[in-house]
Amino acid sequence: MRLDKFLADVGLGSRKEVKQLIKKNLVKVNGSLAKDGKIQVNEKTDVITFDEEPLVYQRFFYYMLHKPQGVISATEDKRDETVLDLLADTDFRDDLFPVGRLDKDTEGLLLLTNDGQLAHQLLSPKKHVDKEYFAKIEGVVTEEDIRCFKKGFPLSNGEMVKPSQLFIESVDEVKQCSTIRLIIQEGKFHQVKRMFEAVDKKVTYLKRLRMGSLVLDERLELGEYRQLTDAELNSLK
Ligand code: URA
Repeated sequence: MRLDKFLADVGLGSRKEVKQLIKKNLVKVNGSLAKDGKIQVNEKTDVITFDEEPLVYQRFFYYMLHKPQGVISATEDKRDETVLDLLADTDFRDDLFPVGRLDKDTEGLLLLTNDGQLAHQLLSPKKHVDKEYFAKIEGVVTEEDIRCFKKGFPLSNGEMVKPSQLFIESVDEVKQCSTIRLIIQEGKFHQVKRMFEAVDKKVTYLKRLRMGSLVLDERLELGEYRQLTDAELNSLK
């Protein structure tokens, strides 16, 4: 590949910006100063350094974020903080985006990447990727709700939701509230909240625990993130 593509892919800037870095004599290939971004390099065998630091080639980046409430699942916003604002040390990358959306008041697992193909694979309705949520519910969730969710049913606007798996974790008859886990394979707007509204209950807290094989690392505090491990990435693909 071309040297300027290599430097842009590892996140040193746009093709135009990395040209300037080369001009400033900051880039070496196998110990010799690079003079031109157009030269061909081998990302596996050539030693390419920036400011004397060796660069490891990585085209795609994958981050697991424990999304807190109050931030929005977008790449930029005029008013609100976005999930990308939380990825402080990836400021140099402007091509990351969240894979799907969580509401502003939803917490939990969010994958951020610059790999459009993987994102498409995870979001495509045809792929039936599980999304597992934990929720606190105002109201007593019943066996009847479980049966209803299992069959699929219409939301209040008539839109059908496909079968899903609902598990009751706890019920408090006195306080009239419940905790549940729900596995859905769709990703309609506000889907979990609307599903419970359709059975006359209200989601008061929502957290995504899993997407496909990717499970939220509970060691991540709210707002923290880390790169996926090779094992996590391989099982997602
Ligand atoms: N369903 C919702 O209602 N909200 C989310 O953020 C995710 C799923």
